[in-house]
Amino acid sequence: MELQKDSGIVLRKIPILEADIAATIYTNSHGKRTLLFKGLKKTKRRSLTAVEPGSVTHVVYYYNEQKTMYNVKEYSLLYDTISIRNNYQAMITLFLFLEIVEKTTGHNDPNQTLFRLLKGAIETLTKTSQYQILILSFILHYLKITGIYPDVFHCTVCHKEITSDLYLSEFSLHPYCDACAPNYSFQFLAIVPIIKDIMTNKFLSLESKHYPLPEINKFIFHLLLFIDSYFTIHINSKELIFNNSIK
Ligand SMILES: [Zn+2]
Repeated sequence: MELQKDSGIVLRKIPILEADIAATIYTNSHGKRTLLFKGLKKTKRRSLTAVEPGSVTHVVYYYNEQKTMYNVKEYSLLYDTISIRNNYQAMITLFLFLEIVEKTTGHNDPNQTLFRLLKGAIETLTKTSQYQILILSFILHYLKITGIYPDVFHCTVCHKEITSDLYLSEFSLHPYCDACAPNYSFQFLAIVPIIKDIMTNKFLSLESKHYPLPEINKFIFHLLLFIDSYFTIHINSKELIFNNSIK
């Protein structure tokens, strides 16, 4: 048994015994881990905030190779999500980020770039109202970090660089140009410059007010269906996002 100190982002809270709470936490140094907070429900409200999904928490816990859940010795809240929770759109966006990381990462498989991406996205939720653009930015960076998606596109068939409209077939991210696109593919109008813009600029400096939202939403939905199919999972929060955002 070894005492470990780390900061982590709470992905999911798992109520177990009456007084205890377990939480799946994406830690900076060791990736996803399940930690057990004993007797937590008897404590003060402030302490409970530390295990709310989205909270960034500093934890000291007993690591034991033989176990799948580790007892927490002490913890302190570094960043809370209270202001996010007061805003429904921000909250469901947060749930989407957490669910993607929770369902697509393995235990004990650290990725500090992914940790920073998730932490940065949570912090940005309080600084923007452009939630759809933030979702697109998060997913694109996430796909790049995990090595799934490039930020420069070349047609799958003729290898010509694609600079404006993008064509993709269902559950796939293989790009086609206008000339080679099969007739069952989906068209995303002028999306490539937006993708390049997002991948090369800081989120808060993007001139995203000019982006065509219906096209962005269509593209986000395509990316989420791709993630579902690629990882054989089901991202539940996309239903929340798409019941609310398409206006
Ligand atoms: Zn082509």
